[in-house]
Amino acid sequence: MKKHLSLFILSAGILLISCKSNQPHSASKTERKKPKNIILMIGDGMGLAQVYAAMVANGMWLHLEKLPVIGLHKSYSSDNLITDSAAGATAFSIGKKTFNGAIGVDSSGAAKETILEEAHRRGLATGMVVTCAVTHATPASFVAHQPSRAMNEAIALDFLSGSADCIIGGGRQYFTKREDGRNLTQEMQKMGYFFTDQLAEVEKSKGTKLLALIAQDELPKMSEGRNSYLPKATELALKKLSISKNGFFLMVEGSQIDWGGHNNDPDYIIRETIDFDETIKTVLQFAEKDGETLVVVTADHETGGLAINGGSKEKRTIDAAFTTKKHTGILIPVYSFGPGSELFGGIYENTAIFHKMKTLMTW
Ligand SMILES: [Zn+2]
Repeated sequence: MKKHLSLFILSAGILLISCKSNQPHSASKTERKKPKNIILMIGDGMGLAQVYAAMVANGMWLHLEKLPVIGLHKSYSSDNLITDSAAGATAFSIGKKTFNGAIGVDSSGAAKETILEEAHRRGLATGMVVTCAVTHATPASFVAHQPSRAMNEAIALDFLSGSADCIIGGGRQYFTKREDGRNLTQEMQKMGYFFTDQLAEVEKSKGTKLLALIAQDELPKMSEGRNSYLPKATELALKKLSISKNGFFLMVEGSQIDWGGHNNDPDYIIRETIDFDETIKTVLQFAEKDGETLVVVTADHETGGLAINGGSKEKRTIDAAFTTKKHTGILIPVYSFGPGSELFGGIYENTAIFHKMKTLMTW
């Protein structure tokens, strides 16, 4: 009897262990692999219809499909069901709902440290690559603190904090043609930045401190011959930032998808979204090789109320319809890849993206 009982307990024990090992391994908080680097990619105005329109035009696939975890975020701001890009990006950068037009300040107008600034303070390298002026709503929300997105010259001045190491985009005029007569590119060179207005010159620069302002204001559209600027500039930024032994935080924006939506121009939307997807390919190639990089791709809001009412898979065409020339208030997809990406499944507030990134960076 005793012998049977001990045999029974033994086999029960073995059974239990084997069951446990077959369970899908939900990495507990302590076991979860932490990313060393975070790359946050924002397709401004890129809702699901914009993604699918680009997918149809691209032969029914996109690199975006390689990001296995998908969630949805609620994009409303503190004063409007329909957010603008400033409040939308500020929700990502400081983790708080704020009023439309706000740059890096909360709903009371108080400046809050952004995730990029905290990364800088903790010794990580930081950067941004965009197709608009670097003082425009989304990039500005990671570096500047102003009550209005229209304050381009004040926003440019906030770049003198030095929190962003590698800066590639447009908006040179807000640094050089200023009412106060200052030339911020010269001042930032004194701070150790390599300044250039030519992307081709970026490879000459040493270290991570780079101010590459490739256009006076926004960069040209893809249809105006911007070519592979965004994937190329992102690749250069990754090369620079990956020098940092403490890791890095990089924000990349496909800024002009939104402008295609505001123009109700499906071709503009599709070409900008495919360019953004080519940049996702560049980022994934880096992250797959690196193994310690979390990639999060999302949008701040949808623009235009785009609907696909028809079209042809064979001809790679869509019949597009729009409900507005403004932003809309639908749930926005969040796609993620790499260590910690499992945190980005489910439905949550746009502000939660900040908190999830911060949790993963063990700060
Ligand atoms: Zn917009």
